[in-house]
Amino acid sequence: MKFFEHDDFDAHEQVCFCHDKDAGLRAIIAIHNTALGPALGGVRMWPYASEADALADVLRLSRGMTYKSALAGLPLGGGKSVIIGDPATGKSRQLMLAMGQAVHRLAGRYIAAEDSGTTVEDLKAMREVTPHVVGIQDKPTAQGGIRTGDPSPATAYGVFVGIRAAVAHRLRRDDLKGVRVAVQGVGSVGFKLAKRLAAQGARLWLTDIDADRARLACDELGAEQVAAEDIFTVDVDVFAPCAMGAVINDDTAARLQACIVAGAANNQLAQARHADTLAARDILYAPDYVINAGGVIDVALERESFDVDAVNARVEGIGATLSEIFARAAREGRNTSEIADQIARERFAGKPDLRKSA
Ligand code: NAD
Repeated sequence: MKFFEHDDFDAHEQVCFCHDKDAGLRAIIAIHNTALGPALGGVRMWPYASEADALADVLRLSRGMTYKSALAGLPLGGGKSVIIGDPATGKSRQLMLAMGQAVHRLAGRYIAAEDSGTTVEDLKAMREVTPHVVGIQDKPTAQGGIRTGDPSPATAYGVFVGIRAAVAHRLRRDDLKGVRVAVQGVGSVGFKLAKRLAAQGARLWLTDIDADRARLACDELGAEQVAAEDIFTVDVDVFAPCAMGAVINDDTAARLQACIVAGAANNQLAQARHADTLAARDILYAPDYVINAGGVIDVALERESFDVDAVNARVEGIGATLSEIFARAAREGRNTSEIADQIARERFAGKPDLRKSA
């Protein structure tokens, strides 16, 4: 297996292979860059087919966190960890304690959060042996209730703010009244987003592979339900992917009716070149890791004394960042993804990385 020459190595500062025989722990913690602060990133547990797959995944995800935190304006770097194993059958308290100890040995250079395959309960077990864990605190909600961990309200608010910025840039509109939005996936983030959009007078088309969930959401919000496959071709202004990755591919990019793509899903572009495909069709793309950064802002601010107004104020910055990306992309005739990556690199490297933008 290649390591320093690995395709996804990208100048990682530190990569640790962590092992605890008794607990059955086999994990990798990757710290991509700490120029702006300690490396924050989730702990993923997944039954990887091979160690090479686990390494590729952790390197790619950890690099992504550096870019996400830099563009969210957080004093944080990028990192990620993976536990090799099946979360349904291979998880135990002993395993999570061993993972906590592995994190603790890094003395705060890596800060762990929840990710696929781990839960707030798992993170709480880790917290027993290390303070370097976030996303576990009880937090007041805007409605006066309490939620634990769950960053989806902040993520949904960030996407809402991002859609407003995209509409202002592309449609020259300051409000969302009558703006037509198709939301793919009405789960934790998608439903909260749809609710905010409806409250601002947007017209909504919703879909979910769970048709009952979509129907309930449509009933509550006065939206129209669309079959999963038809969501790309509804005649709308905004397509908001809030379900899964790789939704923008050769097929869908050619069929989209919307002139804006702005949603919560991670890794929306099947390949980097699809940013050019969208730009060529004059479809404005809000880079996924910029618009969906509300969640990381939420867990990051938990390290200070958590305050819902402070989180919302910081999440609102996503709108300004996107406006800057859109304006610069238009000025330089480049796609918004490239511009976002370049701004992130300027922030964490302190100077433009001319290799990537040449
Ligand atoms: P979720 O699991 O709560 O909701 C996803 C919804 O999408 C579900 O209702 C599911 O049935 C539906 N879905 C799945 N495949 C679909 C398809 N092909 N067509 C239509 N609907 C489909 O997840 P979530 O927390 O709302 O996250 C949504 C997306 O946003 C994910 O890609 C996630 O990685 C990303 N994201 C979430 C957060 C967060 O704070 N939760 C933060 C950043 C990014």
